[in-house]
Amino acid sequence: MGVTNCPRCGKMFYPVGKDAKICPECVKEEEQVFETLKEYLRENPGKNMADITSDTGISAKKVNKFLREGRLEVTEGMEGFLTCMNCGKSITTGKYCNDCASKISKKLQTAVTRDNPRAAARPGGAKMHYLAGDK
Ligand SMILES: [Zn+2]
Ligand SMILES: [Zn+2]
Repeated sequence: MGVTNCPRCGKMFYPVGKDAKICPECVKEEEQVFETLKEYLRENPGKNMADITSDTGISAKKVNKFLREGRLEVTEGMEGFLTCMNCGKSITTGKYCNDCASKISKKLQTAVTRDNPRAAARPGGAKMHYLAGDK
């Protein structure tokens, strides 16, 4: 543990807490971006990615990141905006549809914990533990 480089701006910072992957200034910036996006979607439901990126200036990559992190949910009428990474079914938030999430939760759990401890801790993860064995 010690000083680490912020992957976003390259500045050195002391990570505090499990979410400290980027420096505090970048966290603040990300939060602002998230708030902007949230407000925009609240006032403009049903917008597609092209509208969002041109109206807010937020990159599609960033919008996707928030969605995949489960921080943002696609509003009604935006079906197809975000799809399950496994079967391609339309979903409103996260990476997978409910079916796939429970099917692959066991496999995913291991991979996610190793590669991205933060993703493993996202809300909803707790719902997925059941003891059915693999077929
Ligand atoms: Zn930074
Ligand atoms: Zn699926």
